[in-house]
Order: sequence, then structure tokens, then C-alpha cells
Amino acid sequence: MKKNKKTLADYMWIISTIYLLLGLFNILFAWLGLLCFFIPLIISASGGGKKYCNTYCGRGQLLNLIGNDLKLSRNMDIPKYLRSKWFRYGFLAFFMTMFLVMLFNTYLVFSGDNELRQVIKLLWTFNIPWNWIDTSIVSPWIAQFAFGFYSVMLTSTILGIITMLLYKPRSWCVYCPMGTMTQLISKAKYNPNKL
Ligand code: SF4
Repeated sequence: MKKNKKTLADYMWIISTIYLLLGLFNILFAWLGLLCFFIPLIISASGGGKKYCNTYCGRGQLLNLIGNDLKLSRNMDIPKYLRSKWFRYGFLAFFMTMFLVMLFNTYLVFSGDNELRQVIKLLWTFNIPWNWIDTSIVSPWIAQFAFGFYSVMLTSTILGIITMLLYKPRSWCVYCPMGTMTQLISKAKYNPNKL
């Protein structure tokens, strides 16, 4: 069968990769990641359902590429408990709580109660010093948000890669908080009885 012609949307994985690399050179680029946060929600809220996930998500494409094309995925079925509602909603609740903690830490720097911490927190546990970048051109809270947000993006990428290696390439999408949120928005919009 003839392969469908690729479109620009098929190359979003390049943008995701560039984003991750930019954060290595200058943490302030982490702010751009907010686009990956708001665009899926806007698309879903305006009736696009899971269009972002199905067409535009660079991370999903990247996992697919590494897992399928580079054959780094074991291609096993994801365990049932990771698919369950309680796990997906529980993980979303945990993820959002950690996101709020990150925002609160940003606020503390903004209010002057805390000093800027130039670290990346991986998997919500490990502090990695990230102090080779001069962030003095912006207010400390702007830099603090960038450190926090990049930590979130790196952490979810690591979880996505681990899940891709262990199971099927896009298994992360089963419990990805953005995917769960866009699904919830779509259900609330079109199928409120199924919530
Ligand atoms: S579930 Fe998450 S990682 Fe997967 S395509 Fe959707 S937004 Fe991207």
C-alpha cells in the first residue's frame, strides 16, 4: 500500500526535540513549553477533541519514532492498572498538585521570601544543579518558573521514554496528564453522562 504523504504536522517531533535542547543552553526557553500546555486545552475546548494528540503532539511523535522506527520499544502491552481510571485520574491529580507547588515556589521567589534556586528537579525528587546560565537579565521569579516548568517537561519526557521502552511506543499517552485533560474536556463537552 502506498504510504500517505507527510505533512508539516508530522514533523512536530523536531520542535519537541529542539525545545528540550534549548533548555540545556538557556533555561528561559522553557517558557515556550506553555504552548504545549495551552494549545491542547484550547483545541479540545473549542471542539477539536483529541486532535492535538492525534496530529500535532511532538512528544507523541517522538516516542513513536524512537519506539517504532528505531525499534527501541519492547512493544509489550501496557499493564491494566496503568490504563485504569483511578490511575489516570490519580496521576493527573498528582501531576497538577506538583504543578501548583511549582507555581507556589515561583510566587515565593516573586514575593522575595525565597531566593532563586538554579536546579532542575527530576521526577519530583532529584535536584540537578543547572547553574551555568546567566538568568540575571530577567526577574528571579521568571527564571524560577522556567526552572520549574522545564523540570516538569523533562520529568514527563523521562517517564514517557521509560514507558516507551517497557511497553508500546506511545504507552505514555495512556496516562499523560495532557491527554487525560483533553479527554475530560471532550467528554464534558459532548458526553457529560460518561464522566
Ligand atoms: S497523550 Fe500526551 S504525549 Fe500523547 S499525544 Fe496527547 S499530549 Fe501528546
